[in-house]
Amino acid sequence: MRRFISKNSIQQFMQGRYGNDKLNMVILCAGLAVTIINLFIKLPLLNLILTLLSYILMGWAIFRCLSRNTFKRYQENRKYLMFLQKFKDKEHRYYDCPRCRQQVRVPRGKGKISITCPKCKEKFIKKT
Ligand SMILES: [Zn+2]
Repeated sequence: MRRFISKNSIQQFMQGRYGNDKLNMVILCAGLAVTIINLFIKLPLLNLILTLLSYILMGWAIFRCLSRNTFKRYQENRKYLMFLQKFKDKEHRYYDCPRCRQQVRVPRGKGKISITCPKCKEKFIKKT
C-alpha cells in the first residue's frame, strides 16, 4: 500500500506556518463546547447560530495554525496570555499609560495614587 501522506510532507507543509499555541487550544475547546451545548438545545434557529459559531471558531483555529504571518499570531497569543494574567492577578491592577499606551501594573487597594509611567515618565492619577 502506498502512503499518500508521509511525515516528511506534513513537515514540509507546516514549514513557515505558525502551528499550535495556547490561544488556539482555547478557540478549539470553545468550538467543541459550543458543539456539545448545541446537542442539548432544541431550538432550530439557535441550533443554526451555534453550528455556524462552532464552524467559525474551528475555522479560525485552523486559519491561525496554518497562517504564515507568525509574528501577528504570536502577538495574538501574547495578548491572550496577558489578559489571562490580568484576570488571575488579584493583587494588582493594570492601567495603560495615557500617553504611550505602555501597560503599568500597580498594587491594589492603595486608594488614589499617582502613577509614573516607566517608559515615558508621564504621571497620571488612578484609583486602585
Ligand atoms: Zn507612558
